Amino acid sequence: MLDCAIIGGGPAGLTAGLYTTRGGLENVVMFEKGMPGGQITSSSEIENYPGVTGEISGMDLMMPWPAQCQKFGLKHDMSEVKRVSKDGNVFKIYKTDGTIDEAYSVIVCTGSSPRRAGFKGEAELIGKGVSTCATCDGFFYKGKEVAVVGGGDTALEEALYLAKICSKVYLIHRRDSFRSAPNTVARVKRTANIELILNSSPTEVYGDNMGVTGLLVKNSSGEIRDIKVPGVFTFVGNDVNNQTLIQEDGSFLCDVNKAGEVIVDISMRTSTKGLFAAGDMRIAAPKQVISAAGDGAVAALQAISYVDELLNH
Ligand code: FAD
Ligand code: NAP
Repeated sequence: MLDCAIIGGGPAGLTAGLYTTRGGLENVVMFEKGMPGGQITSSSEIENYPGVTGEISGMDLMMPWPAQCQKFGLKHDMSEVKRVSKDGNVFKIYKTDGTIDEAYSVIVCTGSSPRRAGFKGEAELIGKGVSTCATCDGFFYKGKEVAVVGGGDTALEEALYLAKICSKVYLIHRRDSFRSAPNTVARVKRTANIELILNSSPTEVYGDNMGVTGLLVKNSSGEIRDIKVPGVFTFVGNDVNNQTLIQEDGSFLCDVNKAGEVIVDISMRTSTKGLFAAGDMRIAAPKQVISAAGDGAVAALQAISYVDELLNH
């Protein structure tokens, strides 16, 4: 019986692993289907993790995290978790290899995945000029022109953020009306260095060995426009990696919102006792390494109190 099962080994899961083990839980396993480190390991450069100065890749940033946790006793199970369920006070962790583990508490940190828009070159040039994170990569285009794809709240808010850093933002949307809040739309329309390219969709992003150099955009009349930009930001929605919480009858193990994000309180507690969620998968997540790590620490401290209360009181 595990004191705590941590599902996912990104910044949230690894920090939860550090705090649970160092905080006294004896038997803690982190289930991670791939290499620990999470989605930041796909980033070539991160410069907003406090205290880490100079050029550092996401891979290098995350490299020491697993060893630090293991020093305090965190065990790493390199398995994909299929489902988590609860029976009385015991959680069952069903793995895709068919085996089942049991735990008194669970911290789920499986992140979220930005959707792809699906145009030619997008997948190949991710991290080389195609980005899904303006907070992360906007600064690399300071004083330059960039393109933003999407018409929801994220696309418009990120376009406004980029307009403060970049000389010009081309906002490309496939319709002529936006999903975003009217107030945000008005702010975008008032921003002099945002050009709206409506009823248009990207067909291809292209580049050279240094990265992106331009984007081809087709409008509803079939005309192609070649926009020469070194950066293309796509914000076409996110998929929350909440599959492990889906029960056999299709219900969720805890409350989630319409977008599938796990509803937590300020202490990362879900609606199910002993189940905590941390990082990108929770409601209102800032989707940053530092905030995911912070969530992991908060969830871990709560899990320690929960297990202590369950077993000793
Ligand atoms: P994730 O990092 O997504 O980790 C989730 C982990 O769970 C993954 O390792 C996954 O393999 C594992 N997992 C998922 N499902 C299962 C399962 N069923 N069983 C077992 N394991 C599972 N943030 C910044 O602060 N600064 C930046 O500069 C920055 N740049 C970025 C650049 C890119 C290209 C991307 C994609 C993101 C960037 N981010 C940046 C965002 C940052 O990476 C995320 O906010 C952060 O990684 C979220 O951490 P997490 O632990 O919540 O989830
Ligand atoms: P979203 O609302 O789903 O919007 C996605 C946008 O991308 C839509 O405009 C969609 O176009 C477009 N799109 C989808 N697939 C595309 C493709 N293949 N090619 C080109 N364009 C494509 O996603 P989101 O903006 O990330 O927001 C997600 C949720 O979070 C929403 O509920 C949103 O309100 C919320 N959110 C709220 C705030 C806030 O309250 N401040 C901030 C951010 C997000 P169509 O419009 O034509 O479908």
